[in-house]
Amino acid sequence: MNLSEHWKNRLLRRQLPHALLLTGENRREMADYLASAYVCEGAQPPCGECLHCRKVKMGIHPDVIVIGEDGVSLKVDQVRALRADAYVRPNEAERKIYVVENSQTLNQSGQNALLKLLEEGPDYAAFFFLLPNPEQLLPTLRSRCETIRGETYQTECQNDHEAQEFSNLICQGNQETLITFCVGLEKKKREELVLLLDQTIEELISHLTENPERLLPRLDALREVRASCEYTVGVGHIAGWLMAALTEK
Ligand SMILES: [Zn+2]
Repeated sequence: MNLSEHWKNRLLRRQLPHALLLTGENRREMADYLASAYVCEGAQPPCGECLHCRKVKMGIHPDVIVIGEDGVSLKVDQVRALRADAYVRPNEAERKIYVVENSQTLNQSGQNALLKLLEEGPDYAAFFFLLPNPEQLLPTLRSRCETIRGETYQTECQNDHEAQEFSNLICQGNQETLITFCVGLEKKKREELVLLLDQTIEELISHLTENPERLLPRLDALREVRASCEYTVGVGHIAGWLMAALTEK
């Protein structure tokens, strides 16, 4: 695992924070690695060899609890269940770790419920909040957490280039090339696609004065699809919506 020296040292000394924000594309992988370090009984956590480490690796450790899944919005009910569970002592390890996937989809009352748990919850409980960008959580919740930024595989630069291409295609309005481009988007990772949409929207705004009548409805369509990304399940859906939204106008 590609962690900084700072974090490697902290894991070794078992200086483990109560709450972590994990970002970057490898955040789930990081979460598993860190969870091992929290429950590990070896001399150099995570040793990868003790029973705890092995159970985490197999996804069967009873004290490492995953809430939600990538691409699906979290519900307040899930947070309530988590809160109730947090007051039950760990089964096998010294700590109990909650891995909260897709944390950014929690609404305000869900995030506030988590905040309360961070403030008042038992010491053995630790929380990992997984999300693409730390700014997506309420500042009150964020301020209680330490952040580990993981890897981002695609450079901003590549994305810029693609956003320009996408914006040009929308401006030119050739249906066939636009459809081909949208189909190609299905191969992207979800957060790459969201980033591309954000950049394409900016790009399109800069061209708006060239042909406002034509571009404005397309810009609105793009914004609508971007807004739906907060709820939707996968890139296939998003790409399909883009295709429908951009070609019917
Ligand atoms: Zn271990």
